[in-house]
Amino acid sequence: MEIILGKTAGFCYGVKRAVEGAKKEIEENNNLYCLGEIVHNKQVIEQLEKNGMTFIETLNQVKQKNANVIIRAHGVSKNIYELAKDKNIKIKDYTCPNVLKIHEIAEKYANEGYYILLCGNETHPENIGTISYCNENYDVIEKEDELDNIIQKILENKINKVLLISQTTYNLEKFNNIEKELKNQLYKNNIDLVIKNTICRATELRQKETKEIAKKADYMIIIGGKNSSNTKKLFEIANKYCNNTVCIETVEELDIEKLKQFETIGIMAGASTPDESINDVINKITKKFV
Ligand code: SF4
Repeated sequence: MEIILGKTAGFCYGVKRAVEGAKKEIEENNNLYCLGEIVHNKQVIEQLEKNGMTFIETLNQVKQKNANVIIRAHGVSKNIYELAKDKNIKIKDYTCPNVLKIHEIAEKYANEGYYILLCGNETHPENIGTISYCNENYDVIEKEDELDNIIQKILENKINKVLLISQTTYNLEKFNNIEKELKNQLYKNNIDLVIKNTICRATELRQKETKEIAKKADYMIIIGGKNSSNTKKLFEIANKYCNNTVCIETVEELDIEKLKQFETIGIMAGASTPDESINDVINKITKKFV
């Protein structure tokens, strides 16, 4: 049996920075909160909670005075910074620099009057943050088949300046298709179209590698949190090229007996999957078959 492990599997730069930052903050601060899950991974969250961090959904849940609140890699809406100031809360900002860059782009173009088309999921925390910089002149597009209606809206409302950006973890193939169709439809109507591919390079490389491994593998294992959007996308990509693709959160979910009928096992993991979870899976397979 051969195991192909993705070189890009596991924590990305932004998540690593936030998780390591959180560990450091625990050592240096009392009254430490984190707004939302620092990373979509149950095991990591449980460990941080054990060490004294409290996870909250809104700043209203902060009960102590002089509290410190961590902002995770996804970033937050503009108003959170103002609210924190009003409540005397100290922000420890671990928003990924790639996400901060998107906020900057959205704000700049929104202030110049551009209508912003954001590829991604409207309810994803990263996009909730980005939308707050769009001056309410935006749409979110998740699936390619939504594009026709959006183009119609642009033309009917005589919108003449459009910016296309994306969630950092959006599927590159879909983004390229949307870009192509927008160019086809908007340029001929003399609409100023600005394209900024804001898909994170780490995501792009991981998605490309997933595709390549899935093409070679007989069985493909994607490791990642159940609510991790980038893990879901890796599963989607792998499943397209390898019929036997599974998505698991921890090694306990691996159906090890099923693997004996396969020769090449591909392994990939989302940006929020710690090395320990990946190693657990590899160890279990090698112990049994290699
Ligand atoms: S996936 Fe990219 S943008 Fe998102 S946290 Fe990781 S490095 Fe930053």
